[in-house]
Amino acid sequence: METLTTKYAETHNYVNGQKTESTSNRFMDVVSPLDGSMLSRVAMSNAADLDKAVLSAQKAAKLWANKPIKERVQVFFRYKTLLEKNIDELAKLVLEENGKTLGEARAEVEKSIELTEFACSLPQLIQGELLEVSKGVECRTEYYPVGVVASIMPFNFPNMVPNWTIPNAITLGNAMIVKPSELVPLSMIRLAELLKEAGLPDGVLNIVNGDREIVEAICDHPGIDAVSFVGSTKVAKLVYIRASANLKRCLALGGAKNHLIVLPDANVAMTASNVAASMSGCAGQRCMAASAMVAVGKVQPIIDRLCDEARKIIPGENLGAVITLQAKQRIERYIDEAEKMGAKILVDGRNTIVKGKEGGFYVGPTVIDGVTPEMSVAKEEIFGPVISIMHTETLDEALSIENGNPYGNAASVFTQSGGAARRVMDNASAGMIGVNIGVPVPREPFSFGGWNESKFGVGDITGKSSIGFWTKLKKTTTKWEAEAQINWMS
Ligand code: NAD
Repeated sequence: METLTTKYAETHNYVNGQKTESTSNRFMDVVSPLDGSMLSRVAMSNAADLDKAVLSAQKAAKLWANKPIKERVQVFFRYKTLLEKNIDELAKLVLEENGKTLGEARAEVEKSIELTEFACSLPQLIQGELLEVSKGVECRTEYYPVGVVASIMPFNFPNMVPNWTIPNAITLGNAMIVKPSELVPLSMIRLAELLKEAGLPDGVLNIVNGDREIVEAICDHPGIDAVSFVGSTKVAKLVYIRASANLKRCLALGGAKNHLIVLPDANVAMTASNVAASMSGCAGQRCMAASAMVAVGKVQPIIDRLCDEARKIIPGENLGAVITLQAKQRIERYIDEAEKMGAKILVDGRNTIVKGKEGGFYVGPTVIDGVTPEMSVAKEEIFGPVISIMHTETLDEALSIENGNPYGNAASVFTQSGGAARRVMDNASAGMIGVNIGVPVPREPFSFGGWNESKFGVGDITGKSSIGFWTKLKKTTTKWEAEAQINWMS
């Protein structure tokens, strides 16, 4: 028999509170981007594996939904404490399987804690409404769970993205099937163990690992009522269309190309350090990363300072790895192509090798100037630590470049002018706007979600505007007094 030398045991599915083997006999290696070492191998599940998970969720869903929300939420108070207690171990897992820095991995778990705090406030937010609409006749609204819901995840936040959906969906009374990215399946298994320790009944949360085959099975399964997805726009569209065609509600978040508009009156030091941090944080592998900078008028001092800041970002020290060798090659191809088309590479992160981690996948911070809107580095999501600088004379031209992009996750403006900031807040075509903020992620209870091709479906994935996705609203009209006035509506 083949002996595997992986750091962690094989990653199986998790059904009804137990590790469960897939029947597919198909596996994929889980490789650490830090140094290319083998961490585990993960089962690629099939439709039969999904059947088991759905059955387990269906059995648990009824009992769970019947508990009052004030009882359900207790699990998440305990879970939040467990996240805090285990933050070092959870951050280390993220570091190993995703390749970001330890500081970024810790920040990811801290965000998971904040998301869980929000879920703990849900009983305060979903009381429903009651009004006497006619003498003795009352209308009321109440929130009911959707049933069995699925959540499909990307590779870039193995701890946080599961916590975008799990605490809210489960506190609101649903049972879940989650499908982590096959590139980073380890964190999710650990989160499931912590939820069990926090008292979550078996079957309320189930994990199916795998790739396209299992995602398609989720979209098709008649026992699943809702599908949420976070990943690239290409796959978000496929999932949205397939799940909706099967009459499920679907919310699918896609990729991004976030523009930072920099005006000449912007604070030089603050702008440069914000832009550098936004383009390079998590090695540029976040849907809120700055990817294009639109320099309006004379902003050369800011560009010079940005290059100084970028040179202080050292791969393997304060810059993590990118997820795979293919990702590294794709990012470097974008830079090569821009150079060939006449752009100027002011800071060049190609061919980066980190000493002692020669097997890792690193791209250094890269600043590209003289980019024109038709170049692919201006239009496409690069998902690496690369910023493409375009130049315009006016704010209106900058806004038209931003508006011309099909995505719409985030956009930021750097300026000291309230009027200019307001113009961008009003006219940028994106769901999350920053003013003098490079990564404008809304904190809870404000919701996370973009516009245009960055999100398909109604509502957002976190915060208050996620409540509608995870619940069904029931409207009840009552009359108890026989002598209550009869009118047109009673
Ligand atoms: P991805 O689309 O490749 O994968 C996401 C999920 O879809 C994974 O679980 C994967 O197994 C599955 N999948 C991949 N190909 C599939 C196919 N052909 N059919 C069905 N399922 C498929 O995304 P990724 O590379 O894991 O993550 C990076 C992307 O996610 C970036 O585009 C990034 O912008 C985006 N993202 C968006 C947000 C947001 O909030 N909008 C947040 C995080 C990441």
